[in-house]
Amino acid sequence: MDKAALASALGSPGTFGQSQFAFMRGNAFEAKVKADGGKELLRLLGIDDPAGALVPDLAAAGPEGRAARTALALREATAAGAWTLLDHPLLALDVAGSPAYVEPDAVVVGPDGRWTVVEIKSFPMIDASADSSKVGAAARQAAVYVLALERVAAVTDAAQVAPGILLVCPKDFSNLPTASVVDVRKQLSVTRRQLARLTRVEDIAAALPEGVTFDLEACSADELTAAVESVPHAYAPDCLAACELAFHCRDRARQAGAVQTLGRSVRGELGGLTTVGGVLAAARGEAGDPADPAVAALRRAAALRAEALAGTAGVPEAGVCR
Ligand code: SF4
Repeated sequence: MDKAALASALGSPGTFGQSQFAFMRGNAFEAKVKADGGKELLRLLGIDDPAGALVPDLAAAGPEGRAARTALALREATAAGAWTLLDHPLLALDVAGSPAYVEPDAVVVGPDGRWTVVEIKSFPMIDASADSSKVGAAARQAAVYVLALERVAAVTDAAQVAPGILLVCPKDFSNLPTASVVDVRKQLSVTRRQLARLTRVEDIAAALPEGVTFDLEACSADELTAAVESVPHAYAPDCLAACELAFHCRDRARQAGAVQTLGRSVRGELGGLTTVGGVLAAARGEAGDPADPAVAALRRAAALRAEALAGTAGVPEAGVCR
């Protein structure tokens, strides 16, 4: 489903995603890298004669058509044995039993039949190195493209997918592109394992309450709200950076007084105490098993706080208060 549209229909539109400024900056840099038939990009790959490279048209109707057109272009480029640049190809990947479509910035096919994913990012590469967390995120993203490419390569003669992707970034503090090969083999094996462990979409749908639908066209806002309420959520603050429904789930979690709103680590520390009310009651000695380490720690912290506030015990010993 389109989660952004669902979040808007629920009255909690998400602001998840890049800022408009970052988006425009990224688009402008990508356009510069790919200008003039991708000459600059091909030069970064070490191609002597970028003007001789092929740039096939990948336009087609719908995602299925575009994915089929991309697969055909990859096969033709491999058979031709010429440098070929595929600008925004569309690749299909099986995710939990359903097709998902992914779109790398570019894929370059070499004369030797080697396919290389190109990822263009607008964060800078200073003195040939970039922010490791950003490079890691780009590698995880590109690993999905490599996986999707491997499906096409498996049915294409003489094709092989490079395990290293070409990461293109602005050089130092300029707008000039520079590139570095990033090995994504580790991210590939992690992604493969994660995809293999995903519950199939049919199984998830089968576990939904009878008659629940998230059909945005057929349901009113109230019906959609009721449908979403009927499904448990697992909100954590990390959702704010990753999911369009984060504001909606955060409101639900806050209304329920769920400790998830405090973060996964706090949630883990509190064990069986799942609500803020339950935590406070345990700290006050009104509920909870005193043998439970979380309850004991809460009561100890509450006692120290009371002593400190009363000014009878001075500052608590370092390391005692949790
Ligand atoms: S719990 Fe988090 S990931 Fe799941 S739908 Fe809500 S915001 Fe999205």
